[in-house]
Amino acid sequence: MKIIVEPSKCDGLGMCEAVAPDLFEVGPDGIVRVLDDAPGEDRRVDVQAAIDACPVLALKLSS
Ligand code: SF4
Repeated sequence: MKIIVEPSKCDGLGMCEAVAPDLFEVGPDGIVRVLDDAPGEDRRVDVQAAIDACPVLALKLSS
């Protein structure tokens, strides 16, 4: 499982960070950073919740 971000889409509102603050952080530039872009399978529910929470579809999951 790999998290992919499209930084150009990110609006920095931090919905993903609110859902999974150990995986996502909005930087001072207003663009999200993925703190762990390849989390274990046990985090799939949290990752999917963060992806679903993103209003601009800036997050994706690769397999
Ligand atoms: S929820 Fe989407 S737009 Fe908002 S900070 Fe996260 S990646 Fe960026």
